[in-house]
Order: sequence, then structure tokens, then C-alpha cells
Amino acid sequence: MKILILGVNGFIGYHLTKEILATTDWEVYGMDIDDNRINELENSRLHFVEGDIEINKEWIEYNIKKCDTVMPLVAIATPKMYVENPLRVFHLDFEANLDIIKKCAKYKKRIVFPSTSEVYGISPDAEFDEDKSPLCTGPINKERWIYSASKQLLDRVIWAYGNHENLPFTLFRPFNWIGPKLDSIEIAKEGSSRVVTQFIASLLFKKPIYLVDGGKQMRCFTYISDGIAALIKILKNENNICNKQIINIGNPKNNISIKDLAYLMRDIFSKHEKHKNDKEFSQIMEIDSKEFYGESYQDIYNRKPSIEKAKKMLNWEPTVDLEEALKLAIDAFINEYE
Ligand code: UDP
Repeated sequence: MKILILGVNGFIGYHLTKEILATTDWEVYGMDIDDNRINELENSRLHFVEGDIEINKEWIEYNIKKCDTVMPLVAIATPKMYVENPLRVFHLDFEANLDIIKKCAKYKKRIVFPSTSEVYGISPDAEFDEDKSPLCTGPINKERWIYSASKQLLDRVIWAYGNHENLPFTLFRPFNWIGPKLDSIEIAKEGSSRVVTQFIASLLFKKPIYLVDGGKQMRCFTYISDGIAALIKILKNENNICNKQIINIGNPKNNISIKDLAYLMRDIFSKHEKHKNDKEFSQIMEIDSKEFYGESYQDIYNRKPSIEKAKKMLNWEPTVDLEEALKLAIDAFINEYE
């Protein structure tokens, strides 16, 4: 199989490519604006080109025609960016990806597209179901929702192309995937990264850990290897089982409040070989979301997936529990940055 991965150097693109090269005979055609993760993966089946999906459109069209499956993974996926630069999110996550979706529809190439757990927003369901749960966002003045709304419309466009113009597709929804190389520490220094990298950076630099609005919000953190195992099965698509499906990929057993997450991470960090003799550790403090993110932020208090579909359809189940997942992520960051 020939697979085109746009955003191949991102968190998911890197881990997915590593697994593909190690466990399959597929050829990967990849584009990214950066190569800081992917550069360690020397392999004759990895054909990497440095480029920008908003600029290198001819290369993309040529490779969509050439490949069997397309994964457009380029997107801004950090809440801080949704409120600071919503138009950038719209241009990149929505417009640039829409262009790619249309090309897949034109050449009838299978698209495996990253939807997001964020599309469920503030849905009232206790566990989000791909085919039944309502997708709920807040008012327009809460600019956080531009990412959710953009992704939701792309999901609907892909669905419509699938139903009306025979575009082969699968949508997958990652629920807070974590692991080595999640975000760069530089981004975390500016306070713009996802929560687990943010807390690791605070622990490494002995800065305060901030609990937004007290940290009662819950998330189900999913270890990257579990996510990638599900994705490989989706890409293999035995008996076309994943065609026209939306699939949550998350670990409902790893549901934890952000406050408990902070204490657990500090505890794991303080027992690490390199830090067990440290004299002091980051303080854990509360902060108002208006101060941390600004007025146009709105939080999501419950985000738990139903993974019944993934279990049945893919014969897959997550295996890495929360403590192990955090240990692996913290170890990797310490090894990389210290
Ligand atoms: N959060 C926090 N402190 C931080 C960063 C994030 O309390 O330093 C909270 C944030 O308000 C949200 C949760 O942690 O409720 C997860 O944030 P993340 O950026 O990982 O993205 P999300 O899961 O909301 O997409």
C-alpha cells in the first residue's frame, strides 16, 4: 500500500510512520514544514518532502493520485491557539484541509481523516457515541469553538462526499492522546501547549502548575501506542469494515480530573531517578480561565468516549493505564530535554 501522510512530522504522524515502517511493507509519502521528529526515521520506504500544504498544492495533488490512502494530519490542535488565532485555525484546519478532501473526492482515493473528540464539545451524554451523541458548542463570542465547528463541518463534508459521490472514508476521533514528543517544550514555555506537556514543562523548570478554574474538568488520556494500534487497523481496513465509519479512539478507563492529574504527575516526577533528590517541586496553583486563556475561552467538563464501536469493529482495546502512560511520557521528556 502507498500512503500519503500530510503532517507526517506531527505527534500522530511521527508515531504512526514509525509503526508503519516497523510492522508493514507500506510505502509512506510524507510532507511537513518541519522534520525535527521524523528525521530519526531513516528508511527507504519513507519518502519525505519538506513543504507547506497551503503552498505545495501540485505535489499534493500528484501524490493523492499516486497513493492508495490519504491521511491529512496537518492541523492546529491546541486550545490556546483557538482563542489567540482563530482565523489561522480556520485557514489551516478548515480551508487547507477542505482542498485536500475535494481532491480525494475527485480521484476517489480513500481518506482517513482525523476528526476530534472536540466535536462533541459540551454534549450532555456521559459517554460520547459516534452515531448518536449530539455535537454541542457554545456561543460565537467563545472563540474556542472555531476548531470544533471547523472539524464538524469537515466531518459532514466528508460524510456527504462518501454518501453522494462514493468517496471512501473513515473518520477517527482521538481522545487526548499523550506520549513522547507530544508538543515541544519551547511551545510549553510560552504556555501554549496541551495540558500534559504544559505540566511536564512546569515540572522540568520548577515553575508553577496552573489548574484552570480549579481543575475539575475531566479528560480520558490515551497512550499513543494504543491510538496507533487502532489506526493501523483502520488503515488495514480488513473486509472494508471501516468504510463510512466514524470511530472514537480513546481510553475511558483513564478518566481523571485535571487537578488529580497535576498531583499524580508531580508524584511520578518526584520519584524519577534524576529528580528523587530534588529539594523542591512545582507548586500547584489555581487560576481563572479568563486570566489563563482570555475571555473567549470556554471549557469542557466531561469528555469520555464510548469505544464499543472500536472494540467490535477493530477487535481493539486500549492497554496502557494512566499511571504507566504518564510515566512513559515523563521519562521520554526528561531523556530528551535533560
Ligand atoms: N489546563 C490546565 N492547565 C494548563 C493547561 C490546560 O488546567 O496549564 C486544562 C484546560 O483548561 C482543559 C484541560 O486542562 O480543561 C485540557 O487542556 P488541553 O490543552 O490538553 O486540551 P483539551 O483537552 O481541552 O482539548
